Amino acid sequence: MLPTPYRFASPSPPIPPPPPPRGLRNMPFLRPKPALFNPFFRLTTSGRLRRTGAGGAMRAMDAAQVFDHESGASEELDQRARLKIAIVGFGNFGQFLARTFAAQGHAIIGHSRSDHSAAARSLGAAFFRDPHDLCEQHPDVVVLCTSILSTEAVLRSLPLQRLRRSTLFVDVLSVKEFPKNLLLQLLPPDFDILCTHPMFGPESGKHGWSGLPFVYDKVRIGDSEDRANRCRCFLDIFAREGCRMVEMSCTEHDENAAEIQFLTHTVGRLLAKLDLKPTPINTKGFETLLELVENTCSDSFDLYNGLFMYNNNSTELLERLELAFNSLRKELFGRLHVNLRKQLFQSPNGVGSPGAEEN
Ligand code: NAP
Repeated sequence: MLPTPYRFASPSPPIPPPPPPRGLRNMPFLRPKPALFNPFFRLTTSGRLRRTGAGGAMRAMDAAQVFDHESGASEELDQRARLKIAIVGFGNFGQFLARTFAAQGHAIIGHSRSDHSAAARSLGAAFFRDPHDLCEQHPDVVVLCTSILSTEAVLRSLPLQRLRRSTLFVDVLSVKEFPKNLLLQLLPPDFDILCTHPMFGPESGKHGWSGLPFVYDKVRIGDSEDRANRCRCFLDIFAREGCRMVEMSCTEHDENAAEIQFLTHTVGRLLAKLDLKPTPINTKGFETLLELVENTCSDSFDLYNGLFMYNNNSTELLERLELAFNSLRKELFGRLHVNLRKQLFQSPNGVGSPGAEEN
């Protein structure tokens, strides 16, 4: 008998085993067995692995082999909770997350508007064009990773009735109040809800996630130990990568994010309109500006638009930015005016020149 999550999955493509966890990749003999796909293990809702089948009898391949430290490493990884994670919206950021989830040994399944099956395959994930097939895989966690603008339509298109009743829904949108309200409104009351925002992306996080902020709000996590554990296991993915874990309400996030994020993206996109080019005499400051352009413009315009449309604080920020620019310009022109007046009225013959003031 197959483990419970696989019983309904007949017409769908098989899920390839996840790649070996980081650090063991170049040592095939040290690789832990992909326990999720091992018929002698079953993942419980708590994310723990339990032996199933013929009395949980241990087979030779399960026993400690070759090196003691190998069994130690495998043991540790096997004991660690592994999740089956569905990523809905398998675009730029979805794939970026999938890479690390898979590297930690979690099983990844993906779904998106476009066909990203080749990218999924290269990450050791399975891709389902049809959301029904995805939901019938009964993931432990569904991560919503679509553009902010399309999230509502995508969520409404998911056949939620095909998921397990206790599924954990996570969103990673760059705004937080909007998905929180949406998930509370559209998901059945049995589903758990975790709103998150990894405050980094494929550019800023390309050299690792260590020290980068990860914001989360446990909007609705059931009381049972299983549900609390599953949520902890998911958060642990980011903690293990060294993220700075920040628990914060969605409201507080959006207040802060307008300045931190919308402002940064606006300035980056504004500078991009100047078509700045590197020169042989670049200063550090100028290099920083060029980097800002690259960092912000490599994200889709949909993302930027979503930051504006779905954060109540963005309009005010845009107005403040315009006021600040006008005030700075006024200050510059004000000083220029004072200098011109001095030159005009302090020179002996009333006609100013830079030298006239000194005579
Ligand atoms: P994005 O442009 O915000 O979203 C692209 C994703 O949305 C793709 O998976 C795309 O699907 C899907 N999508 C777009 N329009 C759609 C529609 N009409 N119907 C169905 N799906 C649609 O770019 P992203 O960078 O990948 O961001 C994804 C999410 O992660 C966003 O909510 C963003 O706020 C959040 N996030 C991004 C970053 C970052 O640095 N990029 C950081 C933190 C959080 P297809 O590819 O299949 O067309």
